[in-house]
Amino acid sequence: MGEFELIDRYFAQLGARRPDVSLGVGDDAALMNVPAGHELVACVDTLVAGQHFPHDSHADDIGWRALAVNLSDLAAMGATPAWATLALTMPALDEDWLEGFAAGLGAIATQHRVALVGGDTTRGPLTISVSLMGLVPAGSALRRGGARAGDLIYVTGWPGDAAAGLALLQGRLQGAGADRGALELKFRRPEPRVAFGARLRGIASSCIDVSDGLAADLGRLVAASGVGAVVRAAELPLSRALYALAGEARAREFALGGGDDYELLYTVPQTARNQLFQQAASAGAPACHCIGEVVAGRGVRVLGERGELPLPRGWDHFGP
Ligand code: ADP
Ligand code: MG
Repeated sequence: MGEFELIDRYFAQLGARRPDVSLGVGDDAALMNVPAGHELVACVDTLVAGQHFPHDSHADDIGWRALAVNLSDLAAMGATPAWATLALTMPALDEDWLEGFAAGLGAIATQHRVALVGGDTTRGPLTISVSLMGLVPAGSALRRGGARAGDLIYVTGWPGDAAAGLALLQGRLQGAGADRGALELKFRRPEPRVAFGARLRGIASSCIDVSDGLAADLGRLVAASGVGAVVRAAELPLSRALYALAGEARAREFALGGGDDYELLYTVPQTARNQLFQQAASAGAPACHCIGEVVAGRGVRVLGERGELPLPRGWDHFGP
């Protein structure tokens, strides 16, 4: 099988079929229709084997993650995903691996109505780069920079679970049974909060997705907004499984510093709380845990029962 047969077999028809794609895989570039009154939202994320996922990860989990991390970025903008391109670099043509990778990528693409419209295929160390494009009604995208003193800080879901799942896979945390399975699944198959992100348009004053650790990403949000944040450690939502396997103190460390959560961290003016609760009630997912408040000043402070807690450092590829 050559490069073109490979593309044809695994990627030419991947994901949703969308009427707004006038030209998909096969030409020099793809053509898509942006509806009037909308802005195009674009992001890209690269996964390097051994860096962003363990070398022994299943191919279908890698395919899933490659799109999930991008979906999470669009969710944080309040955008609706539509089209993706895939730059795939792999050491050899392994049909079993490709089968699994395309299945994982295809499953999450179909679930979110994303069409794969193009890409590039090359040989080299395993590296996957997905670009994702989506749409948002003009002027309504969520940003990091809109938080104001007095706004409340919320997070979706159960931060820390995915980091604990990775720690289990790497032997840094011990555990068994259903709790272990649940946490590992949170790492292997992140579920980005795409539908809920769109519901936050017109309600949230700012939003970011948690990929590098809650405290670090909150730090970026408040820096962009020119404000500070106070988080109450006791209000951090800890899943039952995380609590059971890690214990309270370590569970909080995972929740604050873990990373790979792909939850949404967002701020809401006090006057918009009722609107938020209405959206959250119909969203189904655990969508609004209030963990603190935006304050005047700079930086993030986390308050425990006995005073301020040290801040974990978030993931930084070029950090010290
Ligand atoms: P070119 O040499 O003009 O860049 P390519 O040979 O790289 O074209 O790709 C041929 C077609 O296949 C293009 O439409 C491209 O978008 C698509 N394509 C290549 N690799 C992938 C991939 N991994 N996934 C999806 N589409 C791909
Ligand atoms: Mg090319």
